[in-house]
Amino acid sequence: MTAPRDGPAAPAPLAPGLYIVATPIGNLADLSPRGADILRRADLIACEDTRVTATLLRAAGSRRPMLRLDDHRERARTDALVARMARESVALVSDAGTPLVSDPGFVLVRAAREAGVPVTTAPGPCAAVAALSISGLPADRFFFAGFLPAAPRAREAAIAALAAVPGTLIFHETAPRLAATLAALAAILGDRPAAVARELTKRHEEVVTGRLAELAARFAQSPPRGEIVVLVGPRAEEAATDDEVEAALRRALATMPPGRAAASVAAAFGVPRGALYARALALAAEDEGEGGCDAT
Ligand code: SAM
Repeated sequence: MTAPRDGPAAPAPLAPGLYIVATPIGNLADLSPRGADILRRADLIACEDTRVTATLLRAAGSRRPMLRLDDHRERARTDALVARMARESVALVSDAGTPLVSDPGFVLVRAAREAGVPVTTAPGPCAAVAALSISGLPADRFFFAGFLPAAPRAREAAIAALAAVPGTLIFHETAPRLAATLAALAAILGDRPAAVARELTKRHEEVVTGRLAELAARFAQSPPRGEIVVLVGPRAEEAATDDEVEAALRRALATMPPGRAAASVAAAFGVPRGALYARALALAAEDEGEGGCDAT
């Protein structure tokens, strides 16, 4: 018996269309068998970073060509890619997790759908959902808010806009910004239960739970490393007491002027802003008075 001259037969091609393939968020073994099969058979693999995806393709036994489709190139390349999907299969992956979730792909998927191209998914890892599933916070209703803005005022406004969401809030965050974000969340949302999920599926996977203010202090003292998801439990169902509102106002005043502190706390607790503003001015004046008295 003679060995075939041309090596193993190439895998059968896939039907034309767009395939959204979720990839591991740390542990290569989390790529699904179906995701790997698509990566071996697609005509083209669109990806954020060809070096990152080359590692994944090696692990999956794929030698398919790659095309870079990061945030800067997505708009420019979408029309040509969608045109190719009439006769070719295109798989979209991101560096980690599910494409489109804080990653490129939305423009491409929308354009493919508008063009009548079949779009299908090989679902799998997603850091936000993985974190939710092990956080111990309510998972029946949740709101994924992606990355908060880096600038303090924009971040405060974004947090205040989420105050009334009746479910667990989920954020992507970077290690250097974690402590400041937790402090801002505590100041604006009140001291809710929360979780910080770090390095999921990797050697140093860790989930730290506690109240927001406690977590803010902990991570300010020992800054973390690695990739992080922050989760914040929903607002308590029962109405807040005056003491709780007052405590939240004091926390907010530590980082914000009275107007913004009153607006944030009013949004978080669903109480009128006017009365809180007067109280915020009084508290700020008290603080100034205390600060002005030098002990001799
Ligand atoms: N599309 C990805 C997904 O579905 O998980 C998210 C991509 S987003 C650009 C990267 C962010 O996801 C990180 O900054 C971090 O917040 C979160 N993340 C990714 N991998 C993680 C991991 N192993 N553990 C914790 N968070 C992770």
